[in-house]
Amino acid sequence: MFHFYNTLTRQQERFTPGEIIRLYTCGPTIYDHAHIGNFRAYVFEDLLQRHLEARGNIVNRVMNLTDVDDKTIRGARTQKVPLQEYTARYKKAFFEDCVALRLRPANSYPAATDPENIEAMVVMIQTLVEKGHAYQAEDHSVYFRIASFPRYGQLAHVDLDAQRTSVRIKNDEYTKEEIADFALWKAWNEEDGDVAWESPWGRGRPGWHIECSAMATRLLGDTIDIHCGGIDNMFPHHEAEIAQCECVSGQTFVRLWMHCAHLMVDGMKMAKSAGNFYTVRELLESGWNGREIRYVLLSVHYRMPLNFTMEGLEAARHSLYRIDEWKRRLEDFTRNTSTSAHPLLENCGSVRLEDFFIALDDDLNISAALAVLFDVIRESHRLLDHKALSGEEVIALLVWWNRVDSILAVTLDSLNEEIPKEVQQLISLRQEARDSKNWIESDRLREAIQAHGWMIKDTKNEQKLIPL
Ligand code: AMP
Ligand code: ZN
Repeated sequence: MFHFYNTLTRQQERFTPGEIIRLYTCGPTIYDHAHIGNFRAYVFEDLLQRHLEARGNIVNRVMNLTDVDDKTIRGARTQKVPLQEYTARYKKAFFEDCVALRLRPANSYPAATDPENIEAMVVMIQTLVEKGHAYQAEDHSVYFRIASFPRYGQLAHVDLDAQRTSVRIKNDEYTKEEIADFALWKAWNEEDGDVAWESPWGRGRPGWHIECSAMATRLLGDTIDIHCGGIDNMFPHHEAEIAQCECVSGQTFVRLWMHCAHLMVDGMKMAKSAGNFYTVRELLESGWNGREIRYVLLSVHYRMPLNFTMEGLEAARHSLYRIDEWKRRLEDFTRNTSTSAHPLLENCGSVRLEDFFIALDDDLNISAALAVLFDVIRESHRLLDHKALSGEEVIALLVWWNRVDSILAVTLDSLNEEIPKEVQQLISLRQEARDSKNWIESDRLREAIQAHGWMIKDTKNEQKLIPL
């Protein structure tokens, strides 16, 4: 039974899935490489999806791509390339980063500029105008009339009187917005260049909020089960989405709102504008790998701020090493076991295996879930040391691990993925030195490898690497 924290009600609620769970997750604005702060949100959503699926549910997940807004237009103009060509680059980079972080693909990635989406946005705005929830102003842009929707502010819990100001904000960079009527359709201006679509209100482009409302309802229906994003998306973006959708359909737009807290650096939100960000590719280039970054982003409860540090990455490397070693030991043990039976194991020593999943049922309590995993690791080492586990039991533990890892997705695929290229090169040079009994060179290379953060343990046939 799931219990998730609903941002709308500010409390944990029981979540009962239907036949298919319709999940909408606000995606990136593809104007630059996403930073790992953005990816904290996507990793949290991935954890949610994987856990729902591990519990036997079918999830239909949509993640939008914002490929038209002030920032994308500005970028394309600065580089003097068509908007589509400009955003295509960052779309490709985004998907590469998703693969590196092992994010399960969404069922669809609608882009705001897809003709069917622009059409859906125009239809929605038309309905809002007809129902008196929107109006065209003197500047030809169309605005949502906040005063026509008394529930506006319910998600962010903002003061109702303060919202009913008549200030109109055209800028859709949400951190700068005020509580005010917001643009649904922005009339063309010179800065937009050739980026414009025809509409009943003249040439222009959609506002950011209507993009998500139109794409979410077009692909998932009037009521969706779960809507996620980073906490900074809650207001005004998600508030506006509710207003737009509920004024059009008259139905509840979202059953459960889930937001993740920020990734921080030295007490500040990681953000492009603050300049305190890392991209996935930067970290990969400096020798970290995707599963380490994933583990860091995953391992703190999604509603707790997470402070990003290099020590955090190092700790992740160590935790993963413990998992790898444990899994290797179990696998080595089963090589001498002839049976392929998979008995269900309830406990590993004093630890109840199901507790891993029960922890995640409780608002994705990853800290408790990881505590179960490391208790199992400790217990199984102890039991193996005492020769107190049978081959069948070890197989059952590996089967359990596969279920766990269908959620965590941190298994080591190959050694090449784990060990940075320079270290691999040093290792093969050292192998050559050892083969020709050049011990001085071998020792020098050992130190060089150590400088990269890896210790070597020599066995008869191989050089085993251990992270420092
Ligand atoms: P943006 O491209 O700025 O619209 O952000 C895309 C997603 O990343 C949104 O869900 C944001 O809330 C989220 N996000 C941006 N910065 C951070 C951060 N430092 N920590 C966590 N989530 C973030
Ligand atoms: Zn959105």
